[in-house]
Amino acid sequence: VTIIDVHGHYTTVPNEQRIYRRRMLEDLDSVGELKITDDQIRESLEKAQLKDQRERGITHALFSPAAGPMAHHEGTEPVSQTWARTCNDLVYRASTLFPDSFTPVCMLPQSPGVKPANCIEELERCVNQMGFVGCNLNPDPSGGYWTDPPLHDRWWYPLYEKMVELEVPAMIHVAGSCNPNFHGTGAHYINGDTTAFMQMLESKLFEDFPTLKFVIPHGGGAAPYHWGRYRAIAERAQWRPIEDLLQNLWFDGCVYNQLGMELLIRTAGADNVLFATEMYGTGQSVDPRTGRTFDDTTTYIDAIEWLSEEDKRKIYETNALKVYPRLAKRLE
Ligand SMILES: [Zn+2]
Repeated sequence: VTIIDVHGHYTTVPNEQRIYRRRMLEDLDSVGELKITDDQIRESLEKAQLKDQRERGITHALFSPAAGPMAHHEGTEPVSQTWARTCNDLVYRASTLFPDSFTPVCMLPQSPGVKPANCIEELERCVNQMGFVGCNLNPDPSGGYWTDPPLHDRWWYPLYEKMVELEVPAMIHVAGSCNPNFHGTGAHYINGDTTAFMQMLESKLFEDFPTLKFVIPHGGGAAPYHWGRYRAIAERAQWRPIEDLLQNLWFDGCVYNQLGMELLIRTAGADNVLFATEMYGTGQSVDPRTGRTFDDTTTYIDAIEWLSEEDKRKIYETNALKVYPRLAKRLE
């Protein structure tokens, strides 16, 4: 069985990166380049991530910079530009050292109030020069205050045009929250996922971009659970059926309980769910009821008795190759 994890983050980076970030926020001009050796990168991955991947039978993972520390709300746009390049270079190096295990996905140098078009140069660098196959798009670079236009606004269109041209999907992924009302991974992440879903539903975005592809992580936030609510809103407003979104939209299976996983697959259908763990993130603690970590998501999928082998293969492998055509080419 081939198992592709579409949602991995390099969260075990050597500590030099955090120190570098602090220095960058104090004085960008004098920060220079981040110095981390190949041996440090190897060591930071071998003892945890690669070991866990092997033990769980995960063949390959899409690997992006840690999401909270993207912190697009901190510092100026030049800070975000330098930080994105630095973090993207690190996941690229990880994917070069372990090409069988990782394919890189980039963060974007977003900054609140700054046009998303300014991210195009970094996206092109990553995709054209370094073989990245996707990007993480933050729908709220302000970190919990939602000060920029919604995802269906033309504000975002130049970036979408480039994504379509390059054939790279975006995973919608907020960074940390600086609003004390919203716990980062508990509230802000799930708000971001749900809000992005609603913005797509209420807009003509996919009529303007019929081949644009998004992945909403963390099981789609509240969307699958409240599918009836969204259908009701769409019916009442006489929008097109909610299921039409599934031409352009996939959910990752980063859900950390059995019933939630089953609800997601039943609701969205096996064609629109991509296997994911989000290692390492929220789910790395051990569930005392099972003795396994919450993010050991193969166990939930394998326990579903009604899921056919064909559908399981879609979720584990073939959907990812369809959504990420550059990944399919890379793994050929
Ligand atoms: Zn994530």
